[in-house]
Amino acid sequence: MSPVSAWAHSPTAIVTGGGSGIGAAIAQRLSAQGAAVAIFDLDEAAAVITAEKITAAGGHAIGVGVDVTDRDDIDAGVDRVHRSLGPPTVLVNNAGLDGFEKFLTITAQSWQRILAVNLTGTFDCCQAVAPHMIEAGWGRIVNISSSSAQTGNPLMTHYSAAKAGVVGFTKALAQELGPRGITVNTIPPGFIDTPMLRRTEDRGFLGLGVDAAVATTPVRRVGQPEDIAAACAFLTRDDAGYITGQIFGVNGGRTL
Ligand code: NAP
Repeated sequence: MSPVSAWAHSPTAIVTGGGSGIGAAIAQRLSAQGAAVAIFDLDEAAAVITAEKITAAGGHAIGVGVDVTDRDDIDAGVDRVHRSLGPPTVLVNNAGLDGFEKFLTITAQSWQRILAVNLTGTFDCCQAVAPHMIEAGWGRIVNISSSSAQTGNPLMTHYSAAKAGVVGFTKALAQELGPRGITVNTIPPGFIDTPMLRRTEDRGFLGLGVDAAVATTPVRRVGQPEDIAAACAFLTRDDAGYITGQIFGVNGGRTL
């Protein structure tokens, strides 16, 4: 029996927020699966470091400084990817920003910033990349939302609302782009060991901390960025083409 490859033709992928945590793991996993990968991040140096790790492992990657709240920046980044690596037909919207504030103290500026990074950034990146997918007649979009969208979280009304918006956006876009050969799914991570999670713990917003939370997690461990990367890589494969508009939970059983 010959091994099954992920793709008939190696695609070019864009991973936003790929300079850190989950995004970096997704970028490396997509490369290992055979994609050329562009890493977009607010922190250009971090994006380049992820790209250098991929290149050192034998893959093709570039790191690009892109702020997903700036449409001109996104369009320039997508143009650069097209010129350097070919038309992007895999997009992982992973860049995210959390926040912990009492509902009555959330300012308009804070509300708008959380929505801009998590929700509008996802919309703008999809709109910038989808024409390449439509032209190719094939595409895979994975939007990283959050278990906060499913359960809600105190002090996170803005973040929970933005991520719930990503879920609704995913379901609507899946229906619109399905006839073009493009799937759109969302992974809501829960309790993944990244700089974001450790910052939350350090600021005292994770109850008794990571170790205590492990005790109430059905699989009895904290998630790793690679857990999300594995699910994401699966959803981008050719043979995942009948899966679209889905919420693909990866949370150790914490959110059922
Ligand atoms: P992380 O380590 O903080 O990584 C997030 C990355 O996104 C950082 O590199 C950050 O850059 C980048 N970013 C932030 N704003 C950006 C912008 N405007 N434009 C471009 N890049 C931007 O967090 P993570 O835990 O890996 O989170 C990845 C995704 O998973 C996020 O969408 C997050 O909401 C979601 N998530 C994570 C967990 C978890 O348990 N870790 C749970 C649920 C959902 P800077 O560092 O320069 O800001």
